[in-house]
Amino acid sequence: MSTFASLNLSPRLVAALGELGYKEPSPVQERIIPKALNGMSLLCQSQTGSGKTHSYLIPILEKLDFEDRRLQALVICPSRELARQVYEFAFAFTPYFPSFKVRLISSEVKSSQNSEGLSASPQLIIGTPGRLKEILSDKYAVDLRGVKTLVLDEADMLCELGYFDDIDEIYSKLNEGIATMVFSATLEENLKVRLSRYIGASFAYDGGENKTASGVSHHLIDIKHQDKFDALSSFLRIKRPYLALVFVSKKEDIGKAYEAVKRVGFPAIAFHGDLSTRERKTVIRRIKENEFAVIVASDLLSRGIDIPDVDMVISLDLPSDLAYYYHRAGRSGRFGKKGDSYIFYTADSTRLPKRLIEEGVQFDFLILKRDELTPDPVGLLPKRKLSAKKEFSDEERLEVRKAKALSREKKVKPGYKKRQAEAVEKVKRKYRRKAIKDKIRKERDAHYRAEAKKK
Ligand code: AMP
Repeated sequence: MSTFASLNLSPRLVAALGELGYKEPSPVQERIIPKALNGMSLLCQSQTGSGKTHSYLIPILEKLDFEDRRLQALVICPSRELARQVYEFAFAFTPYFPSFKVRLISSEVKSSQNSEGLSASPQLIIGTPGRLKEILSDKYAVDLRGVKTLVLDEADMLCELGYFDDIDEIYSKLNEGIATMVFSATLEENLKVRLSRYIGASFAYDGGENKTASGVSHHLIDIKHQDKFDALSSFLRIKRPYLALVFVSKKEDIGKAYEAVKRVGFPAIAFHGDLSTRERKTVIRRIKENEFAVIVASDLLSRGIDIPDVDMVISLDLPSDLAYYYHRAGRSGRFGKKGDSYIFYTADSTRLPKRLIEEGVQFDFLILKRDELTPDPVGLLPKRKLSAKKEFSDEERLEVRKAKALSREKKVKPGYKKRQAEAVEKVKRKYRRKAIKDKIRKERDAHYRAEAKKK
């Protein structure tokens, strides 16, 4: 394990990091910081809560020329909440570097204040795409010749939300050959290719298959046809979380989930896209001040926001874009802490949980029934075991006999017994595979018939 000092950072920055509580680099920081210090353009896919924000903030700070009052680095985030969070992380360094000026330019701040912010000559600007595009337009004549680094954080969301044109416009104003760093917890393969060509990346880091923080345990709860809001009440009564995040995919479910939490008597708040900027800011502050035990949220809160001490995430349903599930689950288990992610499902909603299983997420299975949570030994695991007593079909018997006879014809040659055994085993394997396939097909058909009947 390296130290910040061994990453060639200045003693002053190492000391500041130590005072801020960052004693040693996380794995992603260990990999990214040296490349970023070399001015490389790169793509980084890393778990949420792995310390990826600092893996770009630290090299940006290290490379800043404090004598130069021009803008030197730009960070673009998809939401104002994330932009504020990154800004706060960066602002925390200002006591240690008095000439360091950082500004937040986002839709959270009034246009006039955004432009006033420029008069302080920031060397680093963190912002959302729309406002950044505006502030960097010719109208404000910001000197962009000193910009050496551009960061796109949560890049998949930036693209998904249609910000690519804004980013492209900003990018086209910057010097050729600047270092561009693209970060995201989830990056689809084709997006990866597109983005790496776009920025001319010479390095890509993939933090691993596991798309959520490694301290998270995943659980699937069969709520047995209960109403999911009633199930939520009884689940909270059983689990009594310190701080739980409850996610719903449909906006109209937020109010119902909030009521279900209130019924149990937990201090709760709802966080959704309909809140005004000011309300959102207040809610985030109150959440961070530990005022609530349960936060009911839409996927707006699932991205990047760092809320410390979330011990469990509960998904009352799954988003059809499963990338959001990884973001949700990543809200707990941040920076090596332990966390739990629970998903409610019923026999009618097994499609998306099954897809997560196929993607390799390891679940344990539970049943929530009559205010009791018990292990489910079967869950949604594919039931592939064949019955112990194997019945041979006439067809199989005939083929085995043929295989034996064929190899017997050559019995004069040495090794015929081995060949015979192999030929028989081949036939048997073929039938074993066929039996498994038939069984899976039957199970699937039965499932579809049952689903059709319910409709
Ligand atoms: P991120 O993955 O950027 O959302 O960071 C998750 C959390 O990890 C934040 O609360 C950071 O303050 C914290 N963090 C980042 N780097 C380190 C480090 N090297 N040591 C300890 N905590 C860190």
